[in-house]
Amino acid sequence: MTSAVEQLHAVQVRIANAEREAERKPGAVTLVAVSKTFDAEHIRPVIEAGQRVFGENRVQEAQGKWPGLKAAFPDIELHLIGPLQSNKAKEAVALFDVIETIDREKIAAELAKEIAKQGRSLRLYVQVNTGSEPQKAGIEPREAVAFVQRCRDVHGLAIEGLMCIPPAEENPGPHFALLEKLAREAGVEKLSMGMSGDYETAVAFGATSVRVGSAIFGSR
Ligand SMILES: *Cc1c(COP(=O)(O)O)cnc(C)c1O
Repeated sequence: MTSAVEQLHAVQVRIANAEREAERKPGAVTLVAVSKTFDAEHIRPVIEAGQRVFGENRVQEAQGKWPGLKAAFPDIELHLIGPLQSNKAKEAVALFDVIETIDREKIAAELAKEIAKQGRSLRLYVQVNTGSEPQKAGIEPREAVAFVQRCRDVHGLAIEGLMCIPPAEENPGPHFALLEKLAREAGVEKLSMGMSGDYETAVAFGATSVRVGSAIFGSR
């Protein structure tokens, strides 16, 4: 079995190659290592190999493993990449450094309140449901630009980017292209897109970060 550290290195090489092929700057793309369902014991060697940016999709699960790891490695950057319930906003703001999944007014308001209360400076993304899938989180593409503006103007949230999860069965390219277009229209710079199966494609479409889980940690 290949270790997570070996697989991390393989993913890093493939990202670097994809950057070169797309004529992007070396290091233009941040690797977010998605560690959901894996415990601290599995994550630690990956941190020790130098990886510092991680993603988790559940607040409660992250609370069980990251406070200890963050105390041991203070320069860790933790991203929330799963849906956020407003009753978890307080915990999410306390633990995460980046929240990628703002997709409705109520969450924007709740986050703004908690960020002010806790005096934290988080980096924030709006999640867009590029495939308009009924079961999937994210704001509708046609509402995305206005929603980013409302996050800024009504809630005082500095949104820095957009995030999407394309429909599993579809060619992801058009979804990545749509996210890039919406980000330009909304005036935000960062694009969180691409997972284990399609991160090289996402790099070609301008991703500034890719969220890779199983290609590093193995299947869940
Ligand atoms: C689990 C997850 C990932 C990583 O998926 P892999 O296919 O394992 O790389 C990326 N983004 C989100 C939002 C996820 O929930």
